[in-house]
Amino acid sequence: MTRAITIDKTEDAQSVTLGPLDPAGLPEGEVLVDVAFSTLNYKDALAITGASPVVRSFPMVPGIDFAGVVRDSADPAWKPGDRVVLNGWSVGEKHWGGLAGQARVPGNWLVPLPEGISARQAMAIGTAGYTAMLCVMALERQGLTPDAGEVVVTGAAGGVGSIATLLLSTLGYTVAAVTGRPSEEAFLRDLGAASIVDRAELSAPGKPLARERWAGGIDVAGSTVLANVLAATRYRGVVACCGLAAGMDLPTSVAPFILRGVTLVGVDSVMCPQPERREAWARLARDLDLAKLDALATELPLDRVIETAPKFLKGEVRGRVVVPIAPGLA
Ligand code: NDP
Repeated sequence: MTRAITIDKTEDAQSVTLGPLDPAGLPEGEVLVDVAFSTLNYKDALAITGASPVVRSFPMVPGIDFAGVVRDSADPAWKPGDRVVLNGWSVGEKHWGGLAGQARVPGNWLVPLPEGISARQAMAIGTAGYTAMLCVMALERQGLTPDAGEVVVTGAAGGVGSIATLLLSTLGYTVAAVTGRPSEEAFLRDLGAASIVDRAELSAPGKPLARERWAGGIDVAGSTVLANVLAATRYRGVVACCGLAAGMDLPTSVAPFILRGVTLVGVDSVMCPQPERREAWARLARDLDLAKLDALATELPLDRVIETAPKFLKGEVRGRVVVPIAPGLA
């Protein structure tokens, strides 16, 4: 018997508890994984608080990602002892997730943990960091290079934003980090941010076209923030958009696209095909400064996850939150 967080719903009321998990009750899948580390992501906070209808079936074990060791596999691609990482595939939404001692999943959802990355580091990266890497790869596919000029990262002190800032600066880009928390300036400069932009500058409705500032950007905010980023993107610049921390809407016009040739690239990590996932993890192993990664992750015990989830939605969490489940495993 191991432990898990479980979200349940009766009538209109949602309940969340930490309690024993009977492995016999795990959902179907060829591979049984002993979870070493999981994390608390923005989407997990939405699921645990019920702030958004992220969970599609009840009862549900949240946790959109985990890193661990294969205990048992009916899929010949995996054998007991293999170190693995999982992100997305609606785990923690439709299929029981990683905030548990064990998870059972289809074999083709797993990625081998790259050599040189521990399970803890993989979860310090987590879905946020893997998404940041997908955003960087999207910008590169559109031809963005460090010599094109400054790039902007919104929500820079959060999970996706902090790893995007670290990755881009390590790759030689000059990063303008947008934050609503001026107290995080030293943290962001340590990650490699060249300048800090007050989030308030981008939060009020602006014109469809503004002074050209950035050659590219990674946006986690959406809404007015993304509209203002697009308005200030230089001729033929490119922006990768992956989040909705400020809202689901996008109050802009076609002006940045038809007058400045700006490209807006959508990034989804959940259903991302395997080859791109593996490329992202290989790139993270190669390009991420692991020493600095340790500085942006804090540990949260499993029994404090439920009470911490609301802080996430208030934007009060810095960097990444790692949840040790069986840290000695991998
Ligand atoms: P975090 O909560 O760690 O970070 C979000 C950051 O956004 C906050 O720390 C804050 O940064 C900033 N922020 C908060 N509220 C606002 C606001 N009203 N306007 C502008 N900025 C704001 O979350 P994550 O980094 O893990 O995730 C960020 C977003 O990306 C979420 O919407 C999440 O759902 C999405 N996401 C999408 C994925 C995909 O596959 N497309 C995968 C992973 C995440 P600061 O204090 O520095 O301003």
